[in-house]
Amino acid sequence: MMPDALNIQDIVEVTYEKFSHVHDGEVATYIPELGKVDPNDFAICVAAVDGQVFSAGDWNKEFTIQSVCKPFAYQMALEELGRDRTLLHVGVEPSGEAFNSIELDPLTKRPFNPMVNAGAIAVASLIKKDSKVAGARAFVERMQLAAGRNLKIDASVLASESSSGNRNRAIAYLMLNFGIIDEDVSHTLHQYFSQCSLLVNCRDLALMAATLANMGTNPVTREPVFDFQYIKDVLAVMFTCGLYDHAGEWAYRVGLPAKSGVGGGLLAVVNRQLGIAVYSPRLDAKGNSVRGILVCKELANRLGLHAFEFTNVGSSFVQAMM
Ligand code: GLN
Repeated sequence: MMPDALNIQDIVEVTYEKFSHVHDGEVATYIPELGKVDPNDFAICVAAVDGQVFSAGDWNKEFTIQSVCKPFAYQMALEELGRDRTLLHVGVEPSGEAFNSIELDPLTKRPFNPMVNAGAIAVASLIKKDSKVAGARAFVERMQLAAGRNLKIDASVLASESSSGNRNRAIAYLMLNFGIIDEDVSHTLHQYFSQCSLLVNCRDLALMAATLANMGTNPVTREPVFDFQYIKDVLAVMFTCGLYDHAGEWAYRVGLPAKSGVGGGLLAVVNRQLGIAVYSPRLDAKGNSVRGILVCKELANRLGLHAFEFTNVGSSFVQAMM
């Protein structure tokens, strides 16, 4: 049985209804500005590699991307420095620890992976440009291509991240101590905080995920965005580390490369098929969107999307739609 396009829109709407009354979890407040969002916001968006987009709820409501920036910054580092040089600064091992853990690999002194803050700060240090403005702009420009529209940084969230970011500062100085990042710590942190403060909506995240699924080409604009030789590196790390200390459970139950952020965004990639995004800012204790996890589980089950699904409906239904 192949779900057709109409079915996907129906399934997205039914899933939205099913979880619209779930109000578990709390919005993030450790970055004061994030505490101001409406906790009831909820959107689901699915973008197929043939350019069709299915959505329900507040799909055009903007929020900050937060940690969902991490796979894309990692992709940029791989493109700029190549695999070997990037691996000198950040590993690919799940940490089993919280996203903001102040911890490096005891042997190599590298951060465990680019999906936790330490790894993302190391990546930010690699992709920052000569000036703070140029580094942030290069990131925004790339994300605009992936989203297919103009994007901007939320100046208030950026200021709030920066003034409350002492834990990230501690992580950065620990890495400076071990020679993982260079001396320009404030420049590196500005790059990282700017990336996290990018304003996106749920549709943008779905298109960014679909761009990864579509071998680096935005499926709506048809613009090439990412060098596809590195996308498998990024998806592999998302699969094993994208949801921090929930990553094993996620791989078991959902089985898709994914990334969450404390702004309430979550995206998942069905390779060569779909980008899935959810926005719902109430988070669980591990900093992942409660409804984001529920929705992805539901869609993965209903559409047969788990990477190791035997019936494997998900691997062929988009072709069937085209
Ligand atoms: N900007 C946030 C931080 O560094 C991102 C964390 C997240 O989304 N998990 O703490």
